[in-house]
Amino acid sequence: MNDTGGRKAQTGRCLCGKVKFTIGEGVDEIGACHCDMCRRWSGGPMFALHCKGPVEFEGEEHIVRYKSSDWGERGFCGVCGSSLFYHLLPTGEYMVSPCALDDQSGLKFTNQIFIDEKPAYYDFANDTVKMTGAEVFAMYAPKE
Ligand SMILES: [Zn+2]
Ligand SMILES: [Zn+2]
Repeated sequence: MNDTGGRKAQTGRCLCGKVKFTIGEGVDEIGACHCDMCRRWSGGPMFALHCKGPVEFEGEEHIVRYKSSDWGERGFCGVCGSSLFYHLLPTGEYMVSPCALDDQSGLKFTNQIFIDEKPAYYDFANDTVKMTGAEVFAMYAPKE
């Protein structure tokens, strides 16, 4: 694997190991999404690591891609059910689950989105940026 100068390539896998992935360009900031869809899908707030470059998958035939909206699909292992990624279709970007990474040291939890959809029964103590769903949509709205 190439060393990009910063963090080196990160690898991850699902619970059963049939699906493996490699993130070429290392990233170390992770976010959590508290929206209703992410919580239903991942069984809790969804932690995500926004990949800046392409993600290579091994065992693609075991990945089930569920299109959860017009702009995104969610991928999971069809054998063990591990939630692996959110794929933003218009840009092709992947937000992978940092919980699936082989080495989770050095990751920084920096932001939380859809904080307005977070249920009252939990709260993270981490000091992070917090954005509501409306703020997220305003930030990612197409600018023409
Ligand atoms: Zn699996
Ligand atoms: Zn979400």
